[in-house]
Amino acid sequence: MCGIVGYIGKKCDLKKVLIDNLKTLEYRGYDSAGVAIYDGNINIVKAKGKIVNLENSLKDVDICDSNLGIAHTRWATHGEANDINSHPHRVGKVTLVHNGIIENYNDLKKDLIRQGYIFVSDTDTEVLVALLDSIKKKEKDNIKAINSLSKLLIGSYALGIIFDDDCEHLYAVRKDSPLIIGVCNDCNLIASDVTAIIDYTKKYMLIDDYEIAKLGKDIVEVFNSDLLLVNKEISEVTWDINQAKKNGFSHFMLKEINEEPIVLKETISEYIKDVNALIKKMPDFSKYNKIHIVACGSAMHAGLVGKSIIEEYAGIPVIVELASEYRYKKNFYDSKTLVIFISQSGETADTIAALRNVNNDNIDTLAIVNVVGSTIAREAKEVLYIRAGVEIAVATTKAYLLQVAMLILVGLNLAYTNKKLSENEVNFILNEFEEIPSKIQNIICRDSECFNLAKEIYEAKDVFFLGRGIDYSICMEGSLKLKEISYIHSEAYAAGELKHGTISLIEKGTNVIGVITDESLMLKTLSNIKETVARGAKVLLITTDKFNSHYDFNCHEFVVEKVNSVLQPLLIVVPLQLIAFEVARLRGCDIDKPRNLAKSVTVE
Ligand code: GLU
Repeated sequence: MCGIVGYIGKKCDLKKVLIDNLKTLEYRGYDSAGVAIYDGNINIVKAKGKIVNLENSLKDVDICDSNLGIAHTRWATHGEANDINSHPHRVGKVTLVHNGIIENYNDLKKDLIRQGYIFVSDTDTEVLVALLDSIKKKEKDNIKAINSLSKLLIGSYALGIIFDDDCEHLYAVRKDSPLIIGVCNDCNLIASDVTAIIDYTKKYMLIDDYEIAKLGKDIVEVFNSDLLLVNKEISEVTWDINQAKKNGFSHFMLKEINEEPIVLKETISEYIKDVNALIKKMPDFSKYNKIHIVACGSAMHAGLVGKSIIEEYAGIPVIVELASEYRYKKNFYDSKTLVIFISQSGETADTIAALRNVNNDNIDTLAIVNVVGSTIAREAKEVLYIRAGVEIAVATTKAYLLQVAMLILVGLNLAYTNKKLSENEVNFILNEFEEIPSKIQNIICRDSECFNLAKEIYEAKDVFFLGRGIDYSICMEGSLKLKEISYIHSEAYAAGELKHGTISLIEKGTNVIGVITDESLMLKTLSNIKETVARGAKVLLITTDKFNSHYDFNCHEFVVEKVNSVLQPLLIVVPLQLIAFEVARLRGCDIDKPRNLAKSVTVE
């Protein structure tokens, strides 16, 4: 969500450097942008809307080559998206950019107003700049001043700071919001994630909560909250810059769907050789008799698919909760409970907070994440990485698919250790798992079919997704995909639930998408869908070649190959992703960067 970049190094055209770096963070979502560049003076330029607006405003501003600058894309939390509220904010002799939320900003603001500070924006950020400026009046040492600031703030923040009294250094600090340091030969950088530094360097440092970084052009020092110098490890980015490019595809989302076969193969290959590999490569789950899965958005939907599989195949009860709820409620777990946290970025604020609560209670935790070394990966007791590579489109596709795949593997592991499936049975499924990437490829090749189905839907006002059991969980993801990128209102319903209220919304021409793969529930779901047909609904069925002869009403259909039920979710979600994509394309939407949304949700 939103982004920070910063540069200190040899003199160069910082307008270009900062804009180029900000553009690499565009995918995170934002509504305005700004830069502060030092060339003897601090030049601040901000613009509402896309980075290109900022780029245009910068053209008219005469700024000399510079060695120091910070830049920001803002995802407004306090105050509307406009030029004044955009960052950087400057008060007195302090200029900074901020990602996050300062929860106690109101109390701090009252105090600062009493001290004579006048505020021009509606942001919480301006309050923290004023606070730092007021601290600086007594504390000349910049590291000590930032440390004192941290002690007064409640909330989340990643800050890039320039002090007028030390323009040879760039300062940074974070708590609960992401920030990394890129280490190069003739410059050092700060950024919200590694995509913004990879054009310069593959070497980066992670900074922990409350650590303060002081970057010079050829040195980086990091201090802890006791003001002691910390020896930081330097990590290397393992992926290639081309992964963050469209490589000929019109959209990142389409590119990422097309990558599904290959990233699925990469993710599962080490586990599917046979049951021994599956057991050896995963943590030992044998002691658990209860599982909680905690996540947000699509990752939570993946968790729901995981719940169906683990309960059905391993016989272990699973509770799936939204992280934003779980973090604040009373949870019932004990030493035999495993709490699984799922997050693509590993930086989802609510999921991090929930994980920390569970860690504090000394309960075992397992992370399923994509980004290596991310906060959730580091703080969970165990981690299983999906290998999605970089996912740029805000609407997740390949990462969701891999989260489901990993949960299937966890389910099979549990089913075997709990003696619910024999070695032969597991090996049989693992064998079939190997075929799934090429079966997904076959579905992706049917894009023109998806396009034709999308033409039936793209003018709809509402779309209702209906399914039962595991198909209902898939419907939730299909519905989210459609609404987030096409802005069509859509809802997923457990098919049997519709008649308890929502069926009143079905009228002639209402679009209904039914998902049917579960054999035991097929006839029940079909009856519910027929109830909507009787009221004039226009139906699209997404189903398998085992069932597509069972219905006797007019409808469109997309039929996928029937595979082992435990693997079926991996095939059935792909047409839903492709149809959502085509609908959004037909509607002319900004598919990779839908309005109001951010890729990794790093605020509460
Ligand atoms: N809370 C700050 C604001 O609304 C920062 C938002 C962000 O993380 O971009 O300006």
